[in-house]
Amino acid sequence: MRVVSPLLKNAVFPGLAKLGYLRRRNGAGPAILTYHGILPKDYKMIDPDLDGSLVSADSFRRQLRLLKNQYNVISPQQFLDWCEAKQDLPPRAVLLTCDDDLRNTLTEMVPILQEHELSCLFFVTGASLGALPAMLWYEQLYLMLLAVREDIALDLHDGFQARSRTLPEKRRVWWSLVRHLSQFDAAERRTLLDEVQAQLCLNDAWSTQVLTGPLRCRFLMLNVAEVRSLMAAGMEVGAHTLTHPLLSQLPPEAAWTEIAESRARLEQVIGRRVWALAYPFGDTASATEREREMAERAGFSCAFLNVGGGFGAPMPRFALPRVHVTGEMKLGEFEAHVSGFYRSLRQRFQRPA
Ligand SMILES: [Zn+2]
Repeated sequence: MRVVSPLLKNAVFPGLAKLGYLRRRNGAGPAILTYHGILPKDYKMIDPDLDGSLVSADSFRRQLRLLKNQYNVISPQQFLDWCEAKQDLPPRAVLLTCDDDLRNTLTEMVPILQEHELSCLFFVTGASLGALPAMLWYEQLYLMLLAVREDIALDLHDGFQARSRTLPEKRRVWWSLVRHLSQFDAAERRTLLDEVQAQLCLNDAWSTQVLTGPLRCRFLMLNVAEVRSLMAAGMEVGAHTLTHPLLSQLPPEAAWTEIAESRARLEQVIGRRVWALAYPFGDTASATEREREMAERAGFSCAFLNVGGGFGAPMPRFALPRVHVTGEMKLGEFEAHVSGFYRSLRQRFQRPA
């Protein structure tokens, strides 16, 4: 699959899309799409791994036009009613969702959704329930590692050690740290992040200096007033845990707090029912059977993965598959994902979705 990918992306998917083959595919349930925001105007991509989940405003418009013309984009409320067996969906139904509550969702994404008279289900973390804007801790960590030009040597007080010289090694160190730091509560994680920052010789004001101009819209998350603005603009809001850890790395009580408390606090702040959860990172390893059971017990009506989506996919309520839309997806490839064609190809080649 990896070898033939360029051929699929550049010839097969666009060809099948043009012939109308992809849009003739259908499934019992909807196709659910995950966005992560829009690249702000004047923002220059820093790193493909860091920025690859955000799409350009032009791509987003093209995708919405295609969906409006050829598919049935449903509202989050229609999805909930279907999920609770209260209502059927139209054929080729598509639900739009967006994770991580970055500020650009409000400044760049919502206006485009409104242009097209569409609603989206936004998943927000506990960081957006305060008055002050914050940054996703794992993105801050990635930026810190990128900021250091010399070789990196980390030796944290809890025994975590890592060395890196090249960019691929930095990426590996970053992911080890994400897994490692996920185990701790927010305060301890903050202490360890500060320790990483100090060992990388980045000064205290580093993040304030970094976050200037378009970088603020790219990296800062919404605050509580902005979450309310999302809702006032006709959008729905779901929970994305308190602090966005890799849930499966947490001890049971901590994982339960992340899931159940995020729902309770969000409901308290927005004053209405929160029925949907998106698992952070969202692959099958980060949301195991334990997390799925917790999501159900915490009172959510459904919970979303970030993989395996497209028409025809099985739709377990607490492991709903989604299509992760990326910035490099051209329209033909996007439609291959929505239609489930890409997923069925992967299954045929026996690779995990
Ligand atoms: Zn997320």
